[in-house]
Amino acid sequence: MIIGIDLGTTNSLVAVWSGETAKLIPNALGKVLTPSVVGLDDNGHLIVGDVARERLQTHPQVTASLFKRHMGSAHETLLGHRPYRAEELSALLLRSLKEDAERYLGEPVTEAVISVPAYFSDAQRKATRVAGELAGLKVEKLINEPTAAALAYGLHHKEEATFLVFDLGGGTFDVSVLELFEGVMEVRASAGDNFLGGEDFDDLLAEHFRASPQAQGLPNASDGSMAQRLRREAQRVRHALGQQLQATFTVREDEREWALTITQNDLARLAQPLLERLRAPIERALRDARIKAADLDEVLLVGGTTRMPLVRRLVASLFGRIPAMQLNPDEVVAQGAAIQAALKARHASLEEVVLTDVCPYTLGIETTSGDDLRRDYGLYLPIIERNSVVPVSRVQTVYTVDDGQTKVKVRIFQGESRLVKNNIFLGELEVPVPPRPAGEVSLEVRFTYDINGLLEAQVHIPLTDERRTLVIENNPGVLSAEEIAQRLESLAALKVHPRDQQVNTVLMARMERLYQESLGDTRQYVADLARQFQHELERQDERAIREARVLLTERLDRLEQRL
Ligand code: ADP
Ligand code: MG
Repeated sequence: MIIGIDLGTTNSLVAVWSGETAKLIPNALGKVLTPSVVGLDDNGHLIVGDVARERLQTHPQVTASLFKRHMGSAHETLLGHRPYRAEELSALLLRSLKEDAERYLGEPVTEAVISVPAYFSDAQRKATRVAGELAGLKVEKLINEPTAAALAYGLHHKEEATFLVFDLGGGTFDVSVLELFEGVMEVRASAGDNFLGGEDFDDLLAEHFRASPQAQGLPNASDGSMAQRLRREAQRVRHALGQQLQATFTVREDEREWALTITQNDLARLAQPLLERLRAPIERALRDARIKAADLDEVLLVGGTTRMPLVRRLVASLFGRIPAMQLNPDEVVAQGAAIQAALKARHASLEEVVLTDVCPYTLGIETTSGDDLRRDYGLYLPIIERNSVVPVSRVQTVYTVDDGQTKVKVRIFQGESRLVKNNIFLGELEVPVPPRPAGEVSLEVRFTYDINGLLEAQVHIPLTDERRTLVIENNPGVLSAEEIAQRLESLAALKVHPRDQQVNTVLMARMERLYQESLGDTRQYVADLARQFQHELERQDERAIREARVLLTERLDRLEQRL
């Protein structure tokens, strides 16, 4: 059986084709969403998902989240004593999902289809495959997330279709324009914002609360764990506002309480600047794909944050139609991956034209503009435009700006901003030039970008025939077979927190967090509950533990409602 996995930035899911539908598989806690968080418990044993997320606030040194952002790079995160690469952290998560699937299916699972964002580069795709391998999964296929969403909606049964996938998750926003033609799915364009998602709405709400007169005297407002706590409460309020007209943002500490009522209208007003930011990527994706909004057959909503009525309303108004949202937006990608897995098993998988044959971002140099009276520095001059088909080679001519200058520094950037300071600096080249009046020496800057993400930058001075070349490797992150084997071994040695104890551990972790968040009587109450539960666990009577768990959960729920 091949499983389908949505390896998300915030949440991950695993699904399997049942013969009729794509079934989502529950984890050890009975949930289909597993937070993409891994960590170590107090014994140095691996914990994954909700248990780890509970400890993000209390044990940040041994907990890792958001590692998908580092896929395809050499970035390492320290977990306890050892640094881990994004592939490894992802592998630990995948391993846990694999195990959930094995329990559910009652048989070993060794093959998977894993989804990746459409804009993932070759290096990021390779890293995802390595993550699978490290988890003991043969990655049969990678599927683009928007393609997976389309499969879940059954669009592959159509003859041809052009549609847009609007994916707003926890921390990322992706827009893709897809075209299905003669059984092949092509991602025509993708755009988005890597730092825009549900969490940004939470930050706004938390800030709104903090700045309100009702939060006067709130302790340690600048403390990290208080910030975490406010964000948590903000998320609760934001989710609640999807159903009710108003909700109360409450923080209790000791005997004091700070409470602020927030209405749907307040949220709408606060969220306006974020909602505004959703427009540009949509326009860009449509422009890049050379498609008008009116020509789209369908608009699909994906990502947990599209559950917000505000977001749905915005999408409806931008496209002048109701988007497809019959399915749960945070589940469709996993479902689609499972469908692709089933098709694959029947040797009928949907063909995809992958976007890696385009350069996913703009590459350019720093330039200036204006005259001696008013000169602007730090401007960006694109040389290879985003979405150019690779391999590609482009040249731009620039001129000296100072009288008698003897050298020119060419600074190379990647990104879409008009100002280089907002883009990523890749490297620089210095070339000597003959001293002449400003503007009299020309420089030809040639960029050549290939399928492996290798950028060659060359500066040529026609006047002197001087040349300088710099090769920038954009894929420093791919592991060698040897390194993979090594890491496989060390991951295998990592002991896993016992699965059957997870429900209890998540409760203990929750109490630890609540203890940290509270003071005085409340804190004492939490400590007592924790002690009682610990005793219950030590007695090892499964039934008694189960009953204690139900009671304790109720109490903690009630406490958190008040907190
Ligand atoms: P990702 O693709 O980034 O891994 P998801 O698609 O699971 O993540 O989206 C996670 C985000 O969805 C979180 O920010 C969460 O607050 C948001 N979300 C989930 N359910 C709701 C809801 N009912 N209302 C508003 N936002 C929600
Ligand atoms: Mg997602």
